[in-house]
Amino acid sequence: METKIYQVEDLNADMLDKADVYGDAAARQAVDAARAAVGRAAGILRGGGLVAFPTETVYGLGADAFNEAAVRKVYAAKGRPQDNPMIVHIARASDVGALTSALSPDMVKLIECFWPGSLTLIVKKRADVPAAVTGGLDTVAVRMPDDPVAAELIRQAGTPVAAPSANLSGKPSPTKAAHVIRDLGGRIDVILAGGECRVGIESTVLDLSGETPVILRPGAVTADQIADILGKEVETDPALLRRDVPDGLTGADAAAAPKAPGMKYRHYAPNAEMLVLEGRRDRVKNEILRLKALNEKLGRRVGTMLFEEKSFTEAAHGFFSELRDLDDAGTDLILAGALSENDGLGFAVMNRMMKAAGYNIIKV
Ligand code: AMP
Ligand code: MG
Repeated sequence: METKIYQVEDLNADMLDKADVYGDAAARQAVDAARAAVGRAAGILRGGGLVAFPTETVYGLGADAFNEAAVRKVYAAKGRPQDNPMIVHIARASDVGALTSALSPDMVKLIECFWPGSLTLIVKKRADVPAAVTGGLDTVAVRMPDDPVAAELIRQAGTPVAAPSANLSGKPSPTKAAHVIRDLGGRIDVILAGGECRVGIESTVLDLSGETPVILRPGAVTADQIADILGKEVETDPALLRRDVPDGLTGADAAAAPKAPGMKYRHYAPNAEMLVLEGRRDRVKNEILRLKALNEKLGRRVGTMLFEEKSFTEAAHGFFSELRDLDDAGTDLILAGALSENDGLGFAVMNRMMKAAGYNIIKV
């Protein structure tokens, strides 16, 4: 299949400001050209095709959420297990009514506070939301992304867009257009090539379908922020706190399986072996340098991920991209310094790091 690549980087907040607020003619032209390209992609979505698009978290691979055949093609293109449900993306908060009729006061508060943004809400689904989207569950995951290209695409498509991350299943999530082209070029209809994703890790997934809200996947919107807005306690899925969960749970372990079905699959796996070192910053750095030298003497190619003075925001932004770069460089061993999990975003990055490393962690 030929994959069309449309450049839409000019449809961003800065250019929109220049065009709409300052009346800059060149910016106007660039923005309009990008919008027209997004419009062509929206037509493909309406026709049952697959379109990859940037969001503020990671790139998504979208299909019309109400077209079952299109949704099935997403699983095939990614090589994704069929029982791993997708997030449905909408362009206006009011469109949530097409997916659920259970609008609780908690949900309304969270929507008002965090949408558009990187918070996905799990709610009871309406009967007509296809089972292919929800992996057969009676709940649906919904989010309104905070990105002008994503918003324009969904708006022009005129339908909610079901979209998992636009990577091959098992690869790190894509945060640059080049990652998507590499993974899905030749397998989907269109790639909207925008800029780098601002946040860089996937959205927070919050289950609102039970009595107590439960974080199923940590992200940039933290449990504390959510608890503040709701004025009540927010639980974290116990599976997120474990340090000894091998990927691909089977047998007895399945009883303790996490509620987000996606968590049972091996995720974000680099080709290289990966080891996380945790402890005081100076000790971690010294130990990483010592292990690096040792392994290099043995002829292994060693890459390091040391965030040191970087903020958690920067660590999140660069995390998946660095993993891909290390793989591309033919790295045999990745030595990574753990981040503090006291910060909500640090916890979210550590969740990805632990999965990437297959829970291979040592204290120093
Ligand atoms: P991705 O599409 O790669 O961002 O992954 C979407 C995540 O949302 C996966 O971890 C899914 O398991 C999770 N998810 C989507 N829908 C549901 C749902 N109805 N219940 C629980 N988790 C969900
Ligand atoms: Mg994914």
